[in-house]
Amino acid sequence: MTYEEMVSLLSGKIELNEKTVERFKKYASLLKEWNEKMNLTAITDEPEIVEKHFYDCLLPTDHDLLDDKLICDLGTGAGFPGMVWAIAYPKCVVTLVDATGKKCMFLNEVIKELNLTNAFVVNSRGEDLDMREHFDIVTARAVAPLNILLEVCVPLIKEKGLMIAMKGAKGKEELADAKKAVQKLYLKVININEQALPNDEGVRYNIILKKEKKTEKKYPRSWAEIQKKPL
Ligand code: SAH
Repeated sequence: MTYEEMVSLLSGKIELNEKTVERFKKYASLLKEWNEKMNLTAITDEPEIVEKHFYDCLLPTDHDLLDDKLICDLGTGAGFPGMVWAIAYPKCVVTLVDATGKKCMFLNEVIKELNLTNAFVVNSRGEDLDMREHFDIVTARAVAPLNILLEVCVPLIKEKGLMIAMKGAKGKEELADAKKAVQKLYLKVININEQALPNDEGVRYNIILKKEKKTEKKYPRSWAEIQKKPL
């Protein structure tokens, strides 16, 4: 996918102006450069970066959903979806969380080179973060199965806030397996947005859940317990 195709496909949802596209180009070039030194992404061809990282990350969003929101992207890796959202929606404030120090170094470099003032990096495991009931929206892509992911993410969301879980073809199955987690964490599924990437590149299930009540203090448990006995 070219940048022009991305802009045109997303035009009903979000206006990506010239400055924004320039930022995406710079981001792609930093990604390619740093990927030679460390393993950031398996996708290194620029049209693929545009489609499978940038366009893919913008699919579950729109202006009304993200504008002015306090957002956390947990397990952001090389910045997906959080950095993409910070670039496309300059009025939201995004905290990018990742457990791997080297990835955080890359993220800080992108923020500096793109002069982003609405993205911040925290090098931590999600379950150790001291930001309970803090964010309007928590998101994650390709981090863990939904039942495990929810226990780590949901304590960080404000009451009435949203979880946006970006999932692939197994999204529906994962949601069925996460039934108990949805109940115990007082969540309500409000939307399952099913979309196909162009060029037969696969299905996306973006699951949006609303947090109806504060999370009980016993969650999240330690990572070992979460893994051993998922909700
Ligand atoms: N979201 C990105 C990266 C996916 S790879 C993308 O879609 O491309 C998963 C990332 O999650 C890794 O960078 C790993 O360091 C991080 N991660 C896994 N479990 C985590 C946890 N509990 N807390 C914080 N980061 C975590």
